[in-house]
Amino acid sequence: MDMLSYWEKSSFIHHGLIVVGGGIVGLSTALHYQLAHPKKKVVVIERGLFPSGASTKNAGFVCFGSISELAENARTDSQDELLSLVEKRYKGGLELRQLLGDKRIDYRLVGGYELDFQGDLHERIFTFNDWLRPLFKRPVFSDARDNIPAFSFEQTIVKGLVKNQFEGSIDTGKMMDAFARKAREAGVQFYTQTDVLHYVEQANGVEVAVSTAEGTLQLMADQLALCTNAFTKALLPEADLVPGRGMVIVTKPLKWAPPRGTFHYHSGYNYFRNAGNRILLGGARHLDLKGEATTQEGINSRLESQLKEDLKSFIAPERPLEVDYAWSGIMAFGEGKSPLLLHPSPRVHAAVRLGGMGVALGTGLGKELALHLGATMS
Ligand SMILES: Cc1cc2nc3c(=O)[nH]c(=O)nc-3n(C[C@H](O)[C@H](O)[C@H](O)COP(=O)(O)OP(=O)(O)OC[C@H]3O[C@@H](n4cnc5c(N)ncnc54)[C@H](O)[C@@H]3O)c2cc1C
Repeated sequence: MDMLSYWEKSSFIHHGLIVVGGGIVGLSTALHYQLAHPKKKVVVIERGLFPSGASTKNAGFVCFGSISELAENARTDSQDELLSLVEKRYKGGLELRQLLGDKRIDYRLVGGYELDFQGDLHERIFTFNDWLRPLFKRPVFSDARDNIPAFSFEQTIVKGLVKNQFEGSIDTGKMMDAFARKAREAGVQFYTQTDVLHYVEQANGVEVAVSTAEGTLQLMADQLALCTNAFTKALLPEADLVPGRGMVIVTKPLKWAPPRGTFHYHSGYNYFRNAGNRILLGGARHLDLKGEATTQEGINSRLESQLKEDLKSFIAPERPLEVDYAWSGIMAFGEGKSPLLLHPSPRVHAAVRLGGMGVALGTGLGKELALHLGATMS
């Protein structure tokens, strides 16, 4: 028998909804569900002291695909499929901004740029503007080659630049803080530093085993939402996803102003931006896709060296730069580009596999899951 008090048992064990994972999707699910069902007891269970998945490790791009990423998608997707993918990402970004407010998340419409090493990327602008016109009504992409000298890129390497006027950036930390505060204000509770070990669906609810400092504890929930993205297989082995680790480095503050914008290269695998007058640079996962298909945090020295080399050779050539931060974060990928909404049993649901676009897609996916939970509540 556990040593819980009568009071603890009557007030802290049973929940209307337990959400596993305090990332963007978990917070959005909990918030939207709580707003729709204010009398329900909703708790987010998070393994870290604060959210410790991709949602606090990302680059803060509010994007929907660079021109070469879209060109890659176009190899397998029809024009309609591509348009609906872009629409979901673009409208998802708007949803996040409307929910939390541009000021609180430090949203800036800086414009996105794709670096072109061959010098022929601009030839695709007309086609993709034409494809995306039904959604944006205006041209999305433009030839921005003339900006290369002003951005101080190495001109023998960076031969072209394509601008996306609808892309922006946020402060990822501020966004997650604002999201958690909003959820708390709505009545959502948080249990942090708590690992969900497993669950069993019973006739009257879901029994959820959690690991705490005091040992393992059984909680009960009417419904369970798994918002565990790359870590989902530990709880739902049949989920069709593979982890993909991404890494980021950030320089020390610079004495000069780095270019304003969100920048991509190598079909979106690499990216950089100005973050607090430092350069934040990440990606290069494509150099070791197999090695990076892991849920273990860590720095791949090969990728780190390549990122540093890119900084020196063409992003900020002949500038003194020192790296201040290096971290990794784990994403989830699959065959399709769209996230998964799964319903493994009547009371258990999951919203996972956000790829590298969770900033744009996470809010909407969580809202969709909250609606589904409301509709299937017994
Ligand atoms: C380096 C990097 C850069 C990125 N850049 C961008 C970008 O610029 N723009 C963009 O749109 N997207 C970007 N992404 C992707 C984006 O961050 C993710 O798609 C998004 O954060 C996923 O959100 P999530 O809530 O599904 O998952 P997560 O944020 O990973 O949340 C899952 C949470 O579940 C918790 N958890 C897991 N298992 C358990 C358990 N058993 N018990 C308790 N808690 C558990 C984890 O601790 C974690 O906090 C980037 C990702 C990385 C790694």
